Amino acid sequence: MARFTLPRDIYFGENAMENLKNLQGKKATVVVGGGSMKKYGFLDKAVTYLKEAGMEVDLIEGVEPDPSVETVMKGAEKMRQFGPDWIVAIGGGSPIDAAKAMWAFYEYPEVTFESLCIPFNFPMLRTKAKFCAISSTSGTATEVTAFSVITDYQKGIKYPLADFNITPDVAIVDPELAMTMPKKLAAHTGMDALTHAIEAYVSTAASSYTDALAMKAIEMVAAYLPASYRGNKEARAQMHDAQCLAGMAFSNALLGIVHSMAHKTGAVFHEGAMANQHLPHGCANAIYLPYVISYNAHDPRAAKRYAEIARMLGLTGGSEKALVESLRKLIADYNTQMEIPHTLQEFGVDEKEFLEKVDAIAANAVADACTGSNPREITPAVMAQLLTCAYYGREVDF
Ligand code: FE
Repeated sequence: MARFTLPRDIYFGENAMENLKNLQGKKATVVVGGGSMKKYGFLDKAVTYLKEAGMEVDLIEGVEPDPSVETVMKGAEKMRQFGPDWIVAIGGGSPIDAAKAMWAFYEYPEVTFESLCIPFNFPMLRTKAKFCAISSTSGTATEVTAFSVITDYQKGIKYPLADFNITPDVAIVDPELAMTMPKKLAAHTGMDALTHAIEAYVSTAASSYTDALAMKAIEMVAAYLPASYRGNKEARAQMHDAQCLAGMAFSNALLGIVHSMAHKTGAVFHEGAMANQHLPHGCANAIYLPYVISYNAHDPRAAKRYAEIARMLGLTGGSEKALVESLRKLIADYNTQMEIPHTLQEFGVDEKEFLEKVDAIAANAVADACTGSNPREITPAVMAQLLTCAYYGREVDF
């Protein structure tokens, strides 16, 4: 038996945001990030629509990128004081993910973060509020998924929280918001979406339901990501839908070790030993994906699935092995086209820091919730080898 869960309503296309007017409720807490939604007027627009729906509105502003446990706890406390029956999160992955976790602590103040880290262990939500997510980036698809990534900065670890209770009730996929993404963000989030779809397609939990969504998402990303990166508006709009389809796939098919590696290195590695620029999630995925494809392709079922993707994309190759290699090359080529580094070294991770931390990171990555659905098993020692290949750009021949 398997389960397939999506939001009750997904509004997409031009002016999709207007549907906020139709939400039924008395009080809404709007959760938003650092300022771009305010700057471009989308926050005001959301508040206006909610007021038109007859709701009193409270704001939780300034959720940081890669939101912390502390931000989540503070937000939940503010929600408890206000008592919303709708939580409306607007922006990139960070404010929406933070709002999902706030929602759990708002409804269950006594629950611990540790217990929420256990996959599919959330208490029953919607006893106080429903959840609406409006995404401004085209990658995480958190507006339709059962996931939220929260960072414990004391441990330097990103925790993916997973439970169908946090799949939003309403998702709004309005292309106008995606137009605000800077080029680099469009590249990183686009590669995140591609990784979601590919990992979902080869996942051990993949099904016909998720395959259909994953394949269509990959087809659309291949058709529109480079143009979206260059700023083409139609391509941007198409990518906003493509990433949402990928999200529907991976929310139900789960992911694999590209994400395990990204989760466990994102908060640890920086651009240079002194710099404070974290390794962004989508950039990490883009770097790791080609190496993981080489590793996973040693599993016959995974190789067959990668070859199916390559064939669908019209890539050439006389054998399954050649098709997988064409797919790997295509992804590396996207990285080149969009100025994404091919190795951790090229990104600027300090060599000494890498060598000091790689074994601990490898162990953490293997323990990540995404490892369980990867098509090929992996040990901490092999994971360290794989990360080392991704650091120096070495071929994965094991
Ligand atoms: Fe992701």
